[in-house]
Amino acid sequence: MTDLFSLGHLNLKEISQRGNDTIGSAGVAVVGLGGTGSLAAQLFVRAGFGHVTVIDHDVVNPTNLQRQINYFHGSSHKWKAEETAALLSQIRNDVKVSAVRESLGSDNLSRVLSGHDIIFDGTDNMLARKLINEFSVAEGIPWVFTSAIGMNGQFKAVIPGKTSCLTCMTGNSIVDEGGCSALGVLNSIPSIVSALAYTKALRIILGEEEKGEIHFINAWNMAMEKVMVNRNSECRTCSHHDYEYLT
Ligand SMILES: [Zn+2]
Repeated sequence: MTDLFSLGHLNLKEISQRGNDTIGSAGVAVVGLGGTGSLAAQLFVRAGFGHVTVIDHDVVNPTNLQRQINYFHGSSHKWKAEETAALLSQIRNDVKVSAVRESLGSDNLSRVLSGHDIIFDGTDNMLARKLINEFSVAEGIPWVFTSAIGMNGQFKAVIPGKTSCLTCMTGNSIVDEGGCSALGVLNSIPSIVSALAYTKALRIILGEEEKGEIHFINAWNMAMEKVMVNRNSECRTCSHHDYEYLT
C-alpha cells in the first residue's frame, strides 16, 4: 500500500523508500518548544520520524503567539509540552509522540534524552545547550542548536567525534542572549531557522556529510552565510572529555 503521508519524500531521490525507512525508525528529542522547537516538532512528525519526544517546562504566554506556531489563544497558560503533543497527535497517527514537562538538568538529562538518534535544541538558554552538548559528546548522539533573536538566526550541528562541538566554538563561558519578547524578534525568523536546522537534522539522520559549520541568517536582508567551525584539539568537552555539567 502506498504511504500517502510520505509520498512527497518517496519521490525525492535524496530520500526515496530507503531514506523514508531510516526516518521511520529514527527517534528525535526536541528540547524547548518555543519558536524554533515548535516548527521543528511538526516537521519531524510530518516527515514520519518513528518517535518524537517534546520537552519543555514552561506554559504558553500570550506573548508567544506572535511566533510560536504550535499555540493558539486558547493555549495560554497551558503546558507547552502537552499542547504541542496534542497538536502533533492530530497530524499523523503513526508517530509515537511523548511529552516531557520538565526542565532539563544534569539530574534528568540521561533519562529524558537517552534512546534518541538526534537532539534538536529549541531552548533559548546557553546553560541548557551546554548540558545537551556534553551529553551529546559523552553519548555519541548528534545534536543541532538553534538561536533566533531580532532579525537574526543561527544554527549549527554537532556530530560527536567528527565535527566541532559547542565548547569548541564558545569556550567555557556561558552567555545568554536574553528573552525574545524583551529584545524583540521578527516573527518569521524562528521558523526560518527551524526549517533549515530541521533539514540539517534530517540530512544527518540520512547519513549526509556534516562539516560542522555555523549558519547565520538575517531574514530582513534575506542574507545567509556559513562559517566553518574547526575542532579545537584542546577543547575541554570533545577532546578532553572533561564534563562540567554532567554528573
Ligand atoms: Zn569541542
